[in-house]
Amino acid sequence: MNTTIRLFVFAVLISFSHASNAQQVNTSATSPVRTCGSGVLGEEFEEWLQPLLRSNASSATQRGASTVYTIPVVFHVIHTGTNPGISYNISDAQILSQLDVLNADFRKLNADTATIPSVFAPVAADCEVNFCLAQRDTAGNATNGINRININTITATPPSLPYDKTFIDGTVKPATIWNVLNYLNIWVVPNMASGATQLLGYATFPAGSGLTGLSAPYGNGLTDGVVLWYRCTGKVGNLDPSYNKGRTATHEVGHWLGLRHIWGDNNCGNDYCSDTPTQQTANFGNPVFPSTSNCLNNAPNGDMFMNYMDYCNDVSLKMFSLQQRVRVQTVLQNAPIRVAQRNSNACTPPVAGIDNADPSLRLTVFPNPAQSIVSIQWTAISQLEIDRVVVRNMLGSEVASEGINGIANSGQIDFNTEQLPAGVYFIELAGPRVYRSERFLVIH
Ligand SMILES: [Zn+2]
Repeated sequence: MNTTIRLFVFAVLISFSHASNAQQVNTSATSPVRTCGSGVLGEEFEEWLQPLLRSNASSATQRGASTVYTIPVVFHVIHTGTNPGISYNISDAQILSQLDVLNADFRKLNADTATIPSVFAPVAADCEVNFCLAQRDTAGNATNGINRININTITATPPSLPYDKTFIDGTVKPATIWNVLNYLNIWVVPNMASGATQLLGYATFPAGSGLTGLSAPYGNGLTDGVVLWYRCTGKVGNLDPSYNKGRTATHEVGHWLGLRHIWGDNNCGNDYCSDTPTQQTANFGNPVFPSTSNCLNNAPNGDMFMNYMDYCNDVSLKMFSLQQRVRVQTVLQNAPIRVAQRNSNACTPPVAGIDNADPSLRLTVFPNPAQSIVSIQWTAISQLEIDRVVVRNMLGSEVASEGINGIANSGQIDFNTEQLPAGVYFIELAGPRVYRSERFLVIH
């Protein structure tokens, strides 16, 4: 019985003692004002990205449709003990409908593309990103990519609702996150708020290799991913009527791939995309075209309020722009964690006897946490094609590696961590692909 099934059975067993939690469902007819809790990217991000955009300018526009990136996704459904499909424990169908929306919107396959105003239609873009539900979990076992977690199994004393970002980022994420080098982690949570403001969702931004800070708004090995309110996830289920087309996730994954709000988070601010008109601030509800701002370069067509990176209701959001597409592609080609994620094999079902599905493969990292020498030991009965051991930092950058000669399906290497900054690292057994990845901590 794998971890997912054990957790599921456990959740069912204890659901009877928490049946009253179903009454906490928010069925208010009044929609909250759309508020995204993602932070604001600092200028250091543009200092990293803009030179890459310039060097990519010709190749990015010449690149045909042949390079479509696919990102494995795991949905962590955080609930209070109800059965799947009840209350916060949203159904598989609701999750699958969210995946469908992401795949439509990032490939410009959404039907409402046809209703984009004709002045903006020529710059509506296929971002060439696909999303797949994970087929193997972090231990290499088969999964359906939906990880149901009863909050009471994370902490004996969960806070009252709404949750705040401190609780989600500091407690929920570290307890549930799957290796960020292999998955886009999406958490679906009960009501959440920042102060008195209800949040529909938030995302971490992709850290570039040259960035020093690993705190918000950037993602790291314990936080990277997207958080969604359960009532704006997907397009079937108990959904808020204003946010019932899955576009909150499209917006947040846009941030996760390096996009800014279309008003540049400032009065007539800059989103660093030349094909989105400068606009004064966020739009809400369902504006009527043309909706103008008093900003230079807003005329003649007004705001591109139908862009996913604005704040309108789901039914009014329907496009990314060509420049946003280039940003997304450049991030996927250069941000270390994103490069690892799009190269991940997590959507390939495990194959018995050759890789992570091999139950005989054991990877041990000790001591963990490590202060100086860490020993990495592995054994496997099957013949693996491991030819190197790789150590990566939280950004996904390789900080050390050692080749292995001879019979590689068991062995040990010692690695000195004294030269590494304290923090979280990943150790990989790698060959033609990564066979197993484990997390370890360096302290000094
Ligand atoms: Zn946002």
